[in-house]
Amino acid sequence: MLSNGCKVCAMPISDIHSQESDRVCGECLSHAPFYHQTISSFHYESPVSHLIGGIKFNSKFQFIPLLTQHLVERIATSYKDKNYPDVILPVPLHKTKLKKRGFNQSQLIANYLAIQLKEKYELSIPVDIKLAKRVRNTLPQTTLDAKARKKNLRNAFSIESSLPKTIALVDDVITTGTTVNELSKQLIKSGCQEVHIWTLARAFSI
Ligand SMILES: [Zn+2]
Repeated sequence: MLSNGCKVCAMPISDIHSQESDRVCGECLSHAPFYHQTISSFHYESPVSHLIGGIKFNSKFQFIPLLTQHLVERIATSYKDKNYPDVILPVPLHKTKLKKRGFNQSQLIANYLAIQLKEKYELSIPVDIKLAKRVRNTLPQTTLDAKARKKNLRNAFSIESSLPKTIALVDDVITTGTTVNELSKQLIKSGCQEVHIWTLARAFSI
C-alpha cells in the first residue's frame, strides 16, 4: 500500500521527518506535469500486478471490487476538505483495442468507483466516456523509451469542446505517467482547469 507519496505524482518521498499530505517531489517541482494530483492505492508489484493483469487479460472482473475498495476510501480521505471533481473520465482505449479486448478496464474501475462513492458517501460524480476519444491506435507504451513514448501519443486523443472544470482521470496503472500526462495536457488545452489522476497502482522502477 502506498503512503506519504508526492501529492502530484504519488511517487514515494524519502523524507522521514515530514508527514504532511501535500508534499511535492523534486521532479514535479522542476518539471510539473499537466495533472494536479494523483491518488493511488498500491505499488505496482506482485500480487497487485497479477490481479490487474487478471482483469485485463483474463476478464477476472471479480478482482475489481477487491482492488478498488481501498481507492474509494483513499479518495474520500483526500477530498475531505476539498471539492470533488465534476466528472470521472476513464482513460480511453482505441476502438480496435476495445473490440479485441471486449472492455476497457479503466472504464470498469471508473464505474465501480462512481457506484461506491454514491453508496458510501452519497456523492454523485458521473462517468463520462464521451469527453475524450483515442483516435490513433498507438503502440504499447511499455515497448518504448521515454522519447518514443511521447511521440507515440502525439495526436492520439480527440477532446470534446466543452469540458467541466475538474476532471478525475481513471487508469488501472500508472507507469511513467506519459499517457495520463499527455491526456491531461489535451484536457487542459481544451478548457479543463484541473485534472486529478485516480489509479489503482503506481510503478516506481521505470
Ligand atoms: Zn511528484
